[in-house]
Amino acid sequence: MHFHILTLFPEMVMNGLNTSIIGRAVKKELLSIEAVNIRDYAFNKHQSVDDYPYGGGAGMLMQAEPVYLAYEAVMEKIRERRQEAGQQETRSRVVYLSPQGRVFHQKLAEELAKEEDLILLCGHYEGIDERVLEEIVTDEVSIGDYVLTGGELPAMVMVDAIARLVPEVLHNDVSAEFESFQNNLLEYPQYSRPEIWHGKKVPEVLLSGHHANIEKWRLEQSILRTGQRRPDLLERYGKE
Ligand code: SAM
Repeated sequence: MHFHILTLFPEMVMNGLNTSIIGRAVKKELLSIEAVNIRDYAFNKHQSVDDYPYGGGAGMLMQAEPVYLAYEAVMEKIRERRQEAGQQETRSRVVYLSPQGRVFHQKLAEELAKEEDLILLCGHYEGIDERVLEEIVTDEVSIGDYVLTGGELPAMVMVDAIARLVPEVLHNDVSAEFESFQNNLLEYPQYSRPEIWHGKKVPEVLLSGHHANIEKWRLEQSILRTGQRRPDLLERYGKE
């Protein structure tokens, strides 16, 4: 899978994604991540990419043209790669990270993990000229009901959540299957060595080696925990 992140702060995004599990997956070429600097597509000598909003109001707005040119450059690379591989041309999904979008969740991560290319567009300042959004964006996604200074952290959140679902990125694919939000349940509590820590003992059933009993206990704990912490999720358990 190939992630293309359109941003004014490429080093921020790449520094954050080049470590640990995602960094290893990139080295193993299970996925690629490129950050495209929108400023490289500025069309004036000062390389500015923002201007005052028509109608007045606080702050600056990212202009349409540099965003569009950066997008076109990415699309051109995707087209070439697909052509060389003898693949059909398809429209890639372009996600604009925005507090006005639908809220990101695990099911959307699963859906997007099936894409071959994903373009993530990060806004900054007061956002981006609406006209270019209308032209190139297929999905508008928020990571929660709060306002951040830029789309870089949300893009990193999305790449992390999606990339770990790409086959072989996690050492053990099973660990992505039995996790919080699968089946609308939160994961059960987990314990590692030592058996007793600060006087707290690991639940007996987990030491029993009896797999069926362990599975039953884990499911009960998941249901209990989801009911206590996320009753809204539990209502959907077994229905989707
Ligand atoms: N003026 C915009 C509004 O009121 O909707 C907010 C702009 S925000 C200060 C600047 C950029 O940060 C946005 O263009 C978007 O890319 C990103 N951003 C801020 N909060 C976000 C969130 N909750 N989810 C995703 N992206 C967000």
